[in-house]
Amino acid sequence: MRTNLSVEEALEVVLEAAQGKLPVEELPLKEAFGRVLAEDLASLVDHPDQDDTAIDGYACRSEDTLGASLERPVRLKVIGESPAGRPFPGEVGRGEAVALYTGAPIPKGADAVVRVEDTRRKGDEVLLFAPASPKDIRPKGDDLRRGEVYLRRGDLLTPGRLGLAAAMGHPRLRVFRRPRVGVLSTGDEVVEPGEPLPYGGVYNSNAYSLMGLVLEAGGEPVLLGKVPDEPEAVLAKLEEAGPLDLLLTSGGVSMGEYDVVRKVLERHGEVVFWKVRQQPGGPLLFARLGGLPVLGLPGNPVSSMVTFFLYGRPFLFRLLGRTDPPYGRMRARALTPFKGAKGKKVFRRGVLSVAEGTVRSTGNQSSGVLRSMAFGNALVVLPPDQDASEGEEVEVIPLTFVP
Ligand code: AMP
Ligand code: MG
Repeated sequence: MRTNLSVEEALEVVLEAAQGKLPVEELPLKEAFGRVLAEDLASLVDHPDQDDTAIDGYACRSEDTLGASLERPVRLKVIGESPAGRPFPGEVGRGEAVALYTGAPIPKGADAVVRVEDTRRKGDEVLLFAPASPKDIRPKGDDLRRGEVYLRRGDLLTPGRLGLAAAMGHPRLRVFRRPRVGVLSTGDEVVEPGEPLPYGGVYNSNAYSLMGLVLEAGGEPVLLGKVPDEPEAVLAKLEEAGPLDLLLTSGGVSMGEYDVVRKVLERHGEVVFWKVRQQPGGPLLFARLGGLPVLGLPGNPVSSMVTFFLYGRPFLFRLLGRTDPPYGRMRARALTPFKGAKGKKVFRRGVLSVAEGTVRSTGNQSSGVLRSMAFGNALVVLPPDQDASEGEEVEVIPLTFVP
């Protein structure tokens, strides 16, 4: 077992374990939002499928409209009209025009369009107050070219990409099955909300904050409830958990007599590392139980969330083969001081203003104060042995997960 790893070393070990191949499933478009593509997708069509108009106006021969102006309008004969989806079947000859609506193909014979704002219709004639120009013609394949790959294996299906897949003509998509992530809370004092709180009890918040983080990272949470601090109970629960790609436990990984998660995993699995030089989340443990990777998260509500975010989320991204990074980084000016820690990398909770480029503390930074994660939107990263004073530039990891 390795111990006292740096954050970077610990992350490397966790990522190395994200090896398994997730099965692929095929879903209709309407069920594929938020999933990750398991195949490269080429367009089945050109879009537009022929030259079309980007505006409402009149298609004609540009040579007929040279010099057209308010004072000297050009008069053309309107021989037909073409809404989007109903191409004009004929040809535009000299002195003729066809009324076009956005998305309609450019009729044969025409090489330019005059915008409707520069015209006046008079019965079956139209007056043009400006010369026709080809600039509002969208050439065939301007947006998508048939056979070209626009979406790749590992791409998260965001709203824009889901629309793009549809525009390319694909009704069903091959995506990776969501990784199944077990969430198990431990602790004699832990009680489900809705039950009366005994003296010294605490409601099980970790199960629900972790559930949200798992969903946000593209996983499928499997809520396993809670077990007391008894080795047999923990072991029994781990064994009945069913097929999982990752197991999260919370609590029971510190130094104490009752820290049974660590003891059970030492005895029945293989603890790969225990303790990382970071705050919060120092007692983090990573183990294997049979083939199953286990992240033993510390029980404090902030610690369990921060350690999942820093290790569990990247694990799931790697397992899914995602092409986007699990989180971004930026720099911001501290509006309040942030306290570092001796020999440890520190992740304080902050309120980040992207517009202002500033970050301030959420207040009480104790790892038991969950409000810092409920109302903070960023982690402020301090290298070991370094405080940040007001006005200083600090590294920030935003916690809103816009892809
Ligand atoms: P532990 O890591 O087991 O020593 O727990 C550290 C702190 O986190 C203790 O104050 C626990 O009561 C608290 N805690 C542990 N599990 C949970 C949980 N599921 N929900 C909320 N708080 C918890
Ligand atoms: Mg405990």
